[in-house]
Amino acid sequence: MTENHHKIIIAIDGHSSCGKSTVAKEVAKKLNYIFIDSGAMYRAVTLYCLRNKIIENGIINFPRLEEDLDKIKVCFKFNPESQHNDIWLNGENVENEIRLLEVSQNVSPVAAVGAVRHLLVALQQEMGKSKGIVMDGRDIGTVVFPDAELKIFMTANPDVRAKRRFDELTAKGESVSYEEIRANIIERDRYDETREESPLRKADDAIVLDNSDMTREEQLIWVLSQVAKN
Ligand code: C5P
Repeated sequence: MTENHHKIIIAIDGHSSCGKSTVAKEVAKKLNYIFIDSGAMYRAVTLYCLRNKIIENGIINFPRLEEDLDKIKVCFKFNPESQHNDIWLNGENVENEIRLLEVSQNVSPVAAVGAVRHLLVALQQEMGKSKGIVMDGRDIGTVVFPDAELKIFMTANPDVRAKRRFDELTAKGESVSYEEIRANIIERDRYDETREESPLRKADDAIVLDNSDMTREEQLIWVLSQVAKN
């Protein structure tokens, strides 16, 4: 398969911390596609809320959030060092800060707010206009790009997911407990699956990828074999 293969949209949805972004990034690199981590956008809005005390003790001040929405500017900028699109919030690179556990613990209720979703979905749809994009999230195949040529729904055993995320955060020097991470993953899935606005669900035409027992390399080969069928 070469870059000349006709450009498509690849939508990757699924449960929290099952490596969607990792595989999406690798697929995009292989195909010379744009990779967009839509979760980073919801995390950036959450970071704004935490910094501006729109969220305090886990409670969102909804009127203030809606009032401030037009002041929240999120975009991606290419980072030549990491060869990755970093997320920027109001002129600041927040790629690292949005991964903190405090953001993970507050993001799902923010992502359940209709006005937040409308704002970010419109930006995501704009990014996919020329195709040649791999986007991962929770509603990409169902809402953002319902006509995507390839839709993948990723999942993995919660213990495997918690272990991977624990290793990732501790490697970065964050002091976290395995139990806290496992609880956060399960709680986010529950929240995302039961919210009223665009709940997390497998699109009818999505193919399931359970990567509990797969290596990164095996996942990449699997996704590329699906792309080749298009
Ligand atoms: O993908 P990631 O885990 O970084 O996403 C953080 C959170 O953002 C998810 O738990 C979910 O609540 C929300 N999200 C969403 N829709 C997306 C992407 C992420 O609701 N398309």
